[in-house]
Amino acid sequence: MKASFKLFRIAGITIGIHYTWIFAFIFFSWTLAEGYFPITYIGWSTAVYWIMGIIAALLIFVSVLLHEIAHSLVANAKGIPVRSITLFLLGGPSNMEEEPQKPAAEFAMAIVGPVTSLALAAIFWGFSKLPADTTSPLAAMLSYMAMINMYLGIFNLLPGFPLDGGRVLRSILWGSTGSLTRATDIAGLVGQIFGWLFIGLGVYLIISVSLFTGLWIAFIGWFLNSSADASRKEITLRERLSHIKVRELMNPIVNTISPETTVQQLVREFFRKQQGRAVPVCREDKLIGIATITDIKKIAQEKWAETPVSKIMTSEPLYTVSPEDNLNVAMVMIAKNDINQVLINENGKCGGILSRADIIRFIQMDRELGLR
Ligand SMILES: [Zn+2]
Repeated sequence: MKASFKLFRIAGITIGIHYTWIFAFIFFSWTLAEGYFPITYIGWSTAVYWIMGIIAALLIFVSVLLHEIAHSLVANAKGIPVRSITLFLLGGPSNMEEEPQKPAAEFAMAIVGPVTSLALAAIFWGFSKLPADTTSPLAAMLSYMAMINMYLGIFNLLPGFPLDGGRVLRSILWGSTGSLTRATDIAGLVGQIFGWLFIGLGVYLIISVSLFTGLWIAFIGWFLNSSADASRKEITLRERLSHIKVRELMNPIVNTISPETTVQQLVREFFRKQQGRAVPVCREDKLIGIATITDIKKIAQEKWAETPVSKIMTSEPLYTVSPEDNLNVAMVMIAKNDINQVLINENGKCGGILSRADIIRFIQMDRELGLR
């Protein structure tokens, strides 16, 4: 995710903040200092309310972070690498590099987040009883944090995907039916239903109680509904792609260039005449690299005529698939490495290119023709 900056590293995980979180921080401090605390605890000074608001907003940040770190630590222990967490407006999903391979792993990873929040709620509640004066600002803040962590734990336990509870539900359905697609579809449907319920509740609150709270809840409902919908669509697509082989999309006429071709020739005779933004570089039918339009831009135009493609091509790392791999393998490789295409390696021979655009075009055509 861009538009974010790094804070620190903990247990090998980089913690970052998305700029939207700054708005959330200001928003929380302000609503607590001007709304919640003065309404709940009467008679303290404005400065006290603001100090409480700012500290509480920071503690919300720490609480959400601990929830996410718990997910990440279990993920890492289960062999799913998590290298970074980026906190943004509505929380902070851990950036998992792949999905869990087993239902039990997903269950453990998902449940540990809400459990952490509920444990934090219990700890804050315990501390809130320690000060001699249980109506002091310190005690008020601690009991507020207990309440927030309890809400965080309970909300995330709702069994709608992609909430943690939805992941727990998915792992149980996955374990019992053996089908990740079917499990995601059902858990996603429950997620959509919860989304609609939150929207309904939000609208009710807007009309009857508070415009502000209502808008907030309706917004959360809309967000949950649309992410559940997207997850269902994505899994159906993955399922579809996993039944189609790379070979089915391969162009029988493989366009390749030799490393001795100049950049000038590459631009004039290849990119200006052909579709696509990349070409495999092959020596005697053996794949040695890939030249893309991005590579060309690295060198000044005056030097194109004298520079061979071998100077600008990318040869390390080369992302390749075999014609017998399925399209989902190619799509995951493209998404995971943030690239636009993969090379097709046909038993060590140059087999051409499969781009993100090729896959999208294929899906669109299938849909248009109603192919199954
Ligand atoms: Zn979570």
